[in-house]
Amino acid sequence: METVEIKMGITHCNQCPFFKVVHDPDPTDSFNVDDISTLCTKCPNDNEARYWSSNKLFEGKVIDISIRPYQVANTKIPSWCPFKNK
Ligand code: SF4
Repeated sequence: METVEIKMGITHCNQCPFFKVVHDPDPTDSFNVDDISTLCTKCPNDNEARYWSSNKLFEGKVIDISIRPYQVANTKIPSWCPFKNK
C-alpha cells in the first residue's frame, strides 16, 4: 500500500494525532465527575503521573490534569512538544 507524508501546522494539541483525552474524575468531589485529563501519547510518562480514581499510570505524558471537558479545544501546545521548532 502506498503511503504519503502530509505536513501541516496546528495551533492546539487537540488537532494532533498523538493527543488523547481520558476520563479522570476526582473521586472525592462529585461536582467534578466529568473531569478529564489530556495526554501526549508521543512522549513517555516520565514522571509516572497517575489517574485520580484508579491510580493507574497514564498512557503518555500529561498535558493538563483534571480539567473541564469544554477546555479541551483550548489545549495549548506545551514547550516540551517533540515537534516544536522542527
Ligand atoms: S505535545 Fe505535541 S506531539 Fe504531543 S499531543 Fe501536543 S502537539 Fe501532539
